[in-house]
Amino acid sequence: MGQLDGKTAVVTGGGTGIGLATSKRLAAEGAHVFITGRRESELQKAAAAIGNATAVSGDVSVAADVDRLYERVREHGQGLDVLFANAGINHIATLAELTEDIHDAVFAINVKGTFLTVQKALPLLNDGASVILTASTAAEGGAAGMSAYGASKAAVRAYARAWADELGSRGVRVNAISPGPVNTPLWDTAFGDRAKEMKEAVAAGLPPRRVADPDEIAAAVTFLASSGSSFVYGANLYVDGGMNQI
Ligand code: NAD
Repeated sequence: MGQLDGKTAVVTGGGTGIGLATSKRLAAEGAHVFITGRRESELQKAAAAIGNATAVSGDVSVAADVDRLYERVREHGQGLDVLFANAGINHIATLAELTEDIHDAVFAINVKGTFLTVQKALPLLNDGASVILTASTAAEGGAAGMSAYGASKAAVRAYARAWADELGSRGVRVNAISPGPVNTPLWDTAFGDRAKEMKEAVAAGLPPRRVADPDEIAAAVTFLASSGSSFVYGANLYVDGGMNQI
């Protein structure tokens, strides 16, 4: 018996990194997982690797794409039990370098995309469903070049508080997860050739002296998705190797 036998899950950004690792765990616990992301071929490969999964490509910042995702979930006919609103991007730019386009892109995906992902799921969410939002240690950390990203993740953390209150009476739990540094493609996108050097530098300042494997975040998300966290509402679970704790 898996912890999520017969449940239906949606994972945005489920084709890579934390989303892929979490989708694998949720499927291993018995859930059918709908994954979404922008790259169709990558998503199809991920769905095959996950097993009990359906790939629906789309952009979380585009309302019509999110509607299309949930139309597929509706056709599945079981409602929705686990929603992991995880898709996100990071652009490294100091205040002087930040352009309006970069700022808009970060907020469109990380903030508006999270809002659309959760709001449009409301008619499908079963009583007792678990909604998990990916925030970040960057919401509070404050590092040069991370202002737009950190501000977007602070917004995500704020969403989790208000939505937990709004949906809690239905037994729908909304929580955030704040990973510290995790070994995913996000670093390559954000730092390019400097990704390895940056990960090593950050790791050196953490108690475990390493960055996380995506599966270590997936384990914590699976806890929030399961009945083991049945009295956890509006929390922000840090899985950060101690980064924001020491
Ligand atoms: P990743 O780049 O592998 O994952 C991001 C996923 O989001 C990708 O699959 C990408 O295709 C998808 N995505 C991006 N824009 C999208 C859009 N508009 N519509 C749909 N999908 C879109 O990196 P990751 O580290 O696994 O990132 C997952 C989440 O974790 C992000 O929200 C990120 O900000 C957060 N996070 C990552 C770290 C880290 O160190 N890697 C730390 C804290 C928080």
